[in-house]
Amino acid sequence: MSYQVDEKGFYGEFGGAYVPEILYATVENLKKEYLKVIESEEFQKEYMALLRDYVGRPSPLYLAKRMSEKYGCQLYLKREDLNHTGAHKINNTIGQILLAKKMGKKRIIAETGAGQHGVATATVCALMDMPCVVYQGALDVERQHTNVERMKMLGAEIRPVTSGNCTLKDATNEAIRDWCCHPSDTFYIIGSTVGPHPYPDMVARLQSIISKEIKEQLVEKTGRDYPDYLMACVGGGSNAAGTIYHYIDDERVKIVLAEAGGLGVETGHTAATIHAGSLGILHGARTLVMQTADGQIIEAESISAGLDYPGIGPMHANLATQHRATVLSINDDEAVKAAYELTRLEGIIPALESAHALAALGKMNFRKEDVVVLTVSGRGDKDVETYLSHKEMAGEYGNF
Ligand SMILES: *Cc1c(COP(=O)(O)O)cnc(C)c1O
Repeated sequence: MSYQVDEKGFYGEFGGAYVPEILYATVENLKKEYLKVIESEEFQKEYMALLRDYVGRPSPLYLAKRMSEKYGCQLYLKREDLNHTGAHKINNTIGQILLAKKMGKKRIIAETGAGQHGVATATVCALMDMPCVVYQGALDVERQHTNVERMKMLGAEIRPVTSGNCTLKDATNEAIRDWCCHPSDTFYIIGSTVGPHPYPDMVARLQSIISKEIKEQLVEKTGRDYPDYLMACVGGGSNAAGTIYHYIDDERVKIVLAEAGGLGVETGHTAATIHAGSLGILHGARTLVMQTADGQIIEAESISAGLDYPGIGPMHANLATQHRATVLSINDDEAVKAAYELTRLEGIIPALESAHALAALGKMNFRKEDVVVLTVSGRGDKDVETYLSHKEMAGEYGNF
């Protein structure tokens, strides 16, 4: 048995492609083409060259000494925050735009939450000279203002979405609507391991460079090519999928995922889908969804725009249900405190999303010799205003 996708596009009972009739042929065609293209020598050559020379890979694997001391383990940080555009998202957008070009598509659309995927998409569209439309919830347009300006500067058109609670789910709805109107000439670059098959598998493969590098870097640093623990935050699940990809069926490696608890799972003001969700269909996949008894989506709530989503990728829904992964719910205040802690102990300001993974460290029981690899999915430049306005959550680190 494997935790990877099966040939029908399912992870256990999760996944599949539940799309409107009008998108059927487009999704089928993508399903037929994606592996052929991604595994071709020509694609791999272009993709790897761009990851090296444009993104700045390999990203460092850094032994965080003061944090290791504090949490009683050997903590290595996988520094996706150092990538061009500031997060792991660019690994995926470079791959998808190369695929779009090879499939003859003329126009790119994307959804974005915090704006990191929007920026990464606008960036590769500038690079490849393709028109780009980004859908973003109106609330996120407001709270992630600098990313909006970056996308505009890069030449993308931003379309603020005012339905629902004006966040990522609503932006995704609008992007899918656009795709339905232009199924033949438009390529939809999805930013996470969500959406209809083959997207979750395609995005996981394009992010799997993270664990490929971890393997090589761990040999060099510890003499062993696997860690005891892998830790990452999950919104839709792409940085986590990349982090665990080459270890997913290796039971020596424990997987710990951190989802956004918001004000707390029990308060109902939460984005912790694996804790609070039930089986449903969202954005083309069968997965865990936060919903009412009659199937209406419950709006997600998190301080972190990148995790503010009422669904979860089918890979992670399966890992959690099968108990392959331990999933912790991290509340807003715990994430903010963890971000301040990393900033003061290691001189690294992480993205609010990544801070959820960092906060999970305090809930673990490590042995001193345990090798722990935690992915810092992005940098915190976009979140500085939020950090400053929530100083009171930072405890001892907030006195300045
Ligand atoms: C988008 C984003 C996330 C959440 O998305 P995943 O697909 O779950 O990785 C996490 N961290 C950062 C920095 C992001 O930009």
